[in-house]
Amino acid sequence: MFQQIKLNYEFSALEPHIDTATMEAHYTLHHAAFTKALNNLVEQIPEIQGKTSEEILKHLDLVPDEYLVTVRNTCGGFLNHNLYFESLSPHGPREPRGFLKEHVEQDFGSFENLKAELKKAALGQFGSGYAWLAYCDKEFKLLIKQTDNQRNPISDGETAVLLPIDVWEHAYYLKHRSNRAAYVDALWNVIDWEVVDRRFEAARKWDVLTK
Ligand code: MN
Repeated sequence: MFQQIKLNYEFSALEPHIDTATMEAHYTLHHAAFTKALNNLVEQIPEIQGKTSEEILKHLDLVPDEYLVTVRNTCGGFLNHNLYFESLSPHGPREPRGFLKEHVEQDFGSFENLKAELKKAALGQFGSGYAWLAYCDKEFKLLIKQTDNQRNPISDGETAVLLPIDVWEHAYYLKHRSNRAAYVDALWNVIDWEVVDRRFEAARKWDVLTK
């Protein structure tokens, strides 16, 4: 049974950067609907039973053709929102530290450049989708990805996704209307880089185990 992550902050805790009404609708309507739909799908498709959402998305080849698009978007909608909400916090460090900081400087020059590249990807994603900070273990490299709808880069072979930026209009329209750039600018004030650091550490441990 898939369950939404429990938020360790109130819907209002990210004000004024992300407004209460957006957080509440995003979590209790959009994310809840994906979660319910995924649980219903799993009952119908034996090939995805007993798997985590990551396992399902990494092995979409096991999903029967007639269910492929539905599983990709529904399972993505469940996992992507867990990752997104977990990435936010009223208190976390607002920039990477430790080894992730070194890697950011190596791969992007600076944290400011990383933010500029992520913003460019977020604004450049036509229609609904995500911009991502991801990690490719084949090249030992951080990289920026764009995906449409609820697609997740782990389905395309990336080792780990470190940070999703949800650019569906439901993530910002109530406060920012069509101004996606203002939403992305505000988001930097609520991203918890300790969570992103942890995901990076987990991805690197996985590297060490499988090399
Ligand atoms: Mn969303």
